[in-house]
Amino acid sequence: MKKLIGKVALVTGSGRKEGIGAVVAARLAEEGAAVVVTDIDSTFPEFPQYKVGVSEELAEVAATINDKGGRALPLFADVTDPTSVERLVREAIGEFGRVDILVNNAGASPGPAPLAQFTLAAWEKTLAVNLTGTFLCCREVVPSMIDGGGGKIINISSRAARNGALWMHAYSASKAGVLGLTKSMALELAPFKICVNALCPGDIQTELKQWGLEMEAGVKGITVEALKEEIARVTPLGCLGQPADVAAAVLFFASPDSDYLTGEVINISGGFGLGNATGHLGF
Ligand code: NAD
Repeated sequence: MKKLIGKVALVTGSGRKEGIGAVVAARLAEEGAAVVVTDIDSTFPEFPQYKVGVSEELAEVAATINDKGGRALPLFADVTDPTSVERLVREAIGEFGRVDILVNNAGASPGPAPLAQFTLAAWEKTLAVNLTGTFLCCREVVPSMIDGGGGKIINISSRAARNGALWMHAYSASKAGVLGLTKSMALELAPFKICVNALCPGDIQTELKQWGLEMEAGVKGITVEALKEEIARVTPLGCLGQPADVAAAVLFFASPDSDYLTGEVINISGGFGLGNATGHLGF
């Protein structure tokens, strides 16, 4: 029995074919939800090496879902721009009548650097996308959820929120902010039957992760393959995760199976961080 028949989901940052957002959108559509797939339609001019903006791919993500019998609407929006977010939600509701499930997946980490070289522009851009974008999308969608008698908000945070991440100062801070926002919204929105939960993925194999791995391998003077082996060695389940692993957890939080959970955070990291990485007894 499909779990989301009759529901409407909006997944931000879902325009990259191999990204977590696109896989999440496809998974929710498989379970019967109509989905709005949305992404930004431009690059970050101040960070030319950083890949965002997926004009052609967004249409393909929607077409793939529609070809498989699902219902997907592609809409461009910049989650950092309140006017753009307002239009996104208005058009989504215009097409599907309401939004029951919001997945705040859009994320970015331009300009990672040692603290002394960390630019204010990189700091502000990262907080704008990851934290302000999540806030703006929630603020815009929640009235429709209240009118509809409830809803599910799933915020994609990161392991970096809890553990920090080398050179990723703004990213770690913004994703930690997402956890605080998740909990304060969970408190306020519980009386309206709106559940707000978060996920903290670890190493999930996407294009963004590949970019991070290449950068890290370059700094360490090793190959990406050697770095992946090192990560697998310190991950109890022995491998990197896949977008489908995140999508499965999003589905759980989006479905009635989690109706009595709010303000929760789940790691999706293959057990990374359990015990200690050296494997000694450690008690
Ligand atoms: P991704 O780069 O494929 O996905 C992020 C998407 O957000 C991109 O499609 C990008 O265009 C979009 N985006 C960026 N700025 C935007 C803006 N202003 N408005 C709208 N969309 C915007 O990377 P991914 O690995 O699929 O990551 C998805 C989410 O998961 C992100 O929030 C990321 O921080 C988080 N995450 C990923 C990993 C991992 O290992 N891949 C680990 C922890 C957390």
